[in-house]
Amino acid sequence: MPDGSTADLPSAAHIIADRIDRDGPIPLGDYMAIANACYYASKDPLGEEGDFVTAPEISQMFGEIIGIWLADLWLRQRSPDHCHYVELGPGRGTLADDALRSMARFGCRPPVHFVETSPVLKSKQAELHPAAIWHDDLASLPTDGPLLIVANEFFDALPVEQFIATADGWRRQMVARDRSKFIALPSSEAAADHLGSTAHRFPDGTILERSPVSVEWVGQLASRLAKQGGTLLIIDYGYTKPGTGSTLQAVKDHMPISPFDCPGMSDLTAHVDFHTLANIARSCLLAVHGPAEQGQWLKSLGIDQRAAALIAASPKEADMIRAAHQRLTDIDEMGCLFRVMAATAIDWPEPEGFSYGED
Ligand code: SAH
Repeated sequence: MPDGSTADLPSAAHIIADRIDRDGPIPLGDYMAIANACYYASKDPLGEEGDFVTAPEISQMFGEIIGIWLADLWLRQRSPDHCHYVELGPGRGTLADDALRSMARFGCRPPVHFVETSPVLKSKQAELHPAAIWHDDLASLPTDGPLLIVANEFFDALPVEQFIATADGWRRQMVARDRSKFIALPSSEAAADHLGSTAHRFPDGTILERSPVSVEWVGQLASRLAKQGGTLLIIDYGYTKPGTGSTLQAVKDHMPISPFDCPGMSDLTAHVDFHTLANIARSCLLAVHGPAEQGQWLKSLGIDQRAAALIAASPKEADMIRAAHQRLTDIDEMGCLFRVMAATAIDWPEPEGFSYGED
């Protein structure tokens, strides 16, 4: 069982300050990577008593529907042997618990693989999934069969880089120190050859955001899926068309704060660039479905009926179940902001739930 000890972890602010003192301002992506590694390593941030609440922590219905979605694909692919359930950043393991319970009802009982770096969350996951196999990265995932990969609110935690349009071309966003504070500061040197001399076409100060780490993860997963078969299901808040502007945000105790205020003590995220991730998956010859809105996707897969069945079985909890259903599906809550995208090996069946996709 993984060791959840966090004693003697250096704080993110110290690590970042030391690096800036030694090397000068650091790229925004490095700042975000250090801050989030320390943040997730030091605590369980989920739930009402933490910093933020995720869909699987709101209701069992979320993971159950994902489990049925996966089981349906697996059954229509003629129930391949040696299939693996893989979850990226599984938090407390709640989604996997609900999904695997649903999948088992259809005879789908794959070995469980978690890609997770946080010792605190690994030990929480082990309470629910003692037989799981943990991976620090994607390299050690099994190669002997199809992968059923789920990533809920994972890609939003991966680092982003930003480039700022100036009269002298694009400048990389850096993080510097101003006494005891961290501040964002465009690099004084020209940046990003791959952006070329395009900055003059944008108003001064325009921000381009990119997540090379997410591109790398999706590229690796997609080439595995093309070879081994299976699917990658990404659920997150994000955008579906190319755009400009910063989406970097920080949340602490359910309240937004400045991303530069207390690195390692707040949840730093950026919106997921579904447009680019879909293109990467397509370039690896996967079929991409969606992104669809989470509310529509859950409804087309039967969340209304599931809520009614749960209410019939536990009438005393009817209000709670109705509230959870609303939170997951309402357009003013998670229903519209969150998107669902599936990338599937081309010789696998077309997944359910995307007939309302935006594409
Ligand atoms: N999917 C869960 C938790 C979301 S929070 C849920 O929906 O409840 C983000 C998760 O990703 C945490 O488990 C965190 O520890 C993990 N994580 C963040 N960055 C990671 C990285 N670079 N590698 C592996 N896991 C990471």
